Amino acid sequence: MEKIGIVGAGLVGSLQAILMAKKGYEVHVFERREDLRTAPVIEGRSINLALSDRGWKALQLAGIKEEIEKIAIPMYGRCMHALDGTLTYQPYGKEDQAIYSVSRGELNRQLLNLAGAFPNVQLHFHKKCDDLNLETNALIFTDSQTKKQEEHTLSRIFATDGAYSAVRVRMQKSMMFDYSQKYLEHGYKELVINANPDGSHKLEKNYLHIWPRGKFMLIALANLDGSFTCTLFFPMHGEESFETIDTTEKVTAFFRKTFPDALELMPDLAEVYMRNPTSTLMMVRCHPWNYKDQVVLLGDAAHAMVPFYGQGMNCGFEDCTVFYEMLEKAGDSWENIMSDFSGFRQPDGEAIIDLALDNYIEMREKTGDPDFLLQKKIEAKFSKLYPNLWTPLYSQVTFSNTRYSEAYANGKRQDAIMKKILEIENIHECWDEDFVMEELLKLVK
Ligand SMILES: Cc1cc2nc3c(=O)[nH]c(=O)nc-3n(C[C@H](O)[C@H](O)[C@H](O)COP(=O)(O)OP(=O)(O)OC[C@H]3O[C@@H](n4cnc5c(N)ncnc54)[C@H](O)[C@@H]3O)c2cc1C
Repeated sequence: MEKIGIVGAGLVGSLQAILMAKKGYEVHVFERREDLRTAPVIEGRSINLALSDRGWKALQLAGIKEEIEKIAIPMYGRCMHALDGTLTYQPYGKEDQAIYSVSRGELNRQLLNLAGAFPNVQLHFHKKCDDLNLETNALIFTDSQTKKQEEHTLSRIFATDGAYSAVRVRMQKSMMFDYSQKYLEHGYKELVINANPDGSHKLEKNYLHIWPRGKFMLIALANLDGSFTCTLFFPMHGEESFETIDTTEKVTAFFRKTFPDALELMPDLAEVYMRNPTSTLMMVRCHPWNYKDQVVLLGDAAHAMVPFYGQGMNCGFEDCTVFYEMLEKAGDSWENIMSDFSGFRQPDGEAIIDLALDNYIEMREKTGDPDFLLQKKIEAKFSKLYPNLWTPLYSQVTFSNTRYSEAYANGKRQDAIMKKILEIENIHECWDEDFVMEELLKLVK
C-alpha cells in the first residue's frame, strides 16, 4: 500500500490530502505552523481570495463545495473607481457568472477539518521540513515544539509547501532541474474598510473594487462581516513607493491625492498602513515538477505567480484535480504518473504565470483606458452573438476548464483580431453598428 507524504497543509496540501484519502491511501500531512483548526482567529484580518470555476471543480471533487458556498460572496464584475470618484462597472462574464470572495483562513480550516476526519489521514503540525533524501525518500523535519529532528520515509511525496518550498530546494540540486525566480518591483500591503455600525458593507459587496492608477492600484474584496479587505499594490522603491511613503502624514497626503474616495472610507488608514507589513511578490518557474516516481510539486511550490488573475490557488486546486483524474485513468498505477503529470501540466503552469503578469498591466493601466473598455464591450457583444466562436480570454481562464496553455494561445489570436477592429475609423462612435460585427466575423473565420 502506498504511504503518501504531503509537505505543507496550506490550501493545496489540505485539498490533496482529502483527494488521496478518498482513494484509500495512508496519508501523512506535515505542516510547519500550528493547527489552524484550533488556532485563534485574528479579528479584523480576514484575508480573502477570489475563487473561480477551476477551484470550485476541485472543491466539488473533494466533496466540500456546498460548505464553501456558504462562506463565499459572489462578485459579478469589477467596479472601477476613477480619481474624481466616478464608478464604472464591468461584468466579468455572462449575467450569472461570478468569482467568489472567500476567506483564506476559513477555506483552509474547512479543508483541514475534512482531511482530518478521514481515519487514514494523519496531520502532523509544528513540523518544519528541512530537507529530503532523494535516495531513500525520507523527509527530514524539525519539530518546532521539541526542537528535535525527525525523519519520515514515504513511498510518494507531494510538495505543497508554497513559493519557498524546501522540497524544491532539494530538487534544485538534482540533475537537469531548471529553476528561476523573479521578484516584481511592486509589493503589497493589506488595508481594511470596516463595516458600517449596523454591520453593512460601505461599498457594493458583489463587485471587486479597483482603483487603477497606472503605476499602482488598490483593490477591495468583501468579507462576510461587512468589512472589505483592501490590497495596495505599490512599487517597493522609487519616488512614490513603500520606501518613501513612510509616515502617517505622507500616507494620508498620498491617499488624499490618489485614492480620495477610498480615504473617506478608511478613517484609520494611516495607522493600519504603518502597522501592517509590506510583502513582496515573486514568480517561480521550474521544470520538471517531479523527481522520478517519488516526488512531485503542486501549487505555489511548482508555479508561484503574481496574484493579478486571481488564479494562484485556483491553479493549485486544478493541479490536484488533474493529478487525481490522471491517476484514475491509470487505474491507480503510480508508474510514471508523476512524470506524466509534470509533462502534461507544466506548460499550463507556465501559461498562467504569463497570463497573470499580463493581467497586472491590464488591471493597473488598462482598466481605465477607453480603448480597453471598448474592446471589452465589442468582445462581449460578439461573444453573445456567436458564443461558439468567441469566448473572452478572461472567461476562458476564469469560467472554464480550458487548459491555461490553450487559453493563452487563443488570447494572443483574439488580441491580434481586436487590434484590427479598434483601428476602424471612429470605432468609438460606430462600434455598435452591424458592420463591425460582420468585420469581426470575417476576421475570426
Ligand atoms: C496578495 C495575494 C493575493 C492573492 N489572491 C488570490 C486570489 O484571489 N485567487 C487565487 O486563486 N489565488 C490568489 N493568490 C495566490 C494564492 O494565495 C496561492 O496561490 C495559494 O495560497 C497557494 O497555495 P499553496 O497551498 O500552494 O501554498 P501556500 O498557501 O503558501 O501554503 C504552503 C503551506 O506550506 C507550509 N510550509 C511552508 N514551508 C514549509 C516547510 N518547510 N515545512 C512544512 N510546511 C511548510 C506553510 O506554512 C503553508 O501552510 C494570492 C496571493 C497573494 C500573495
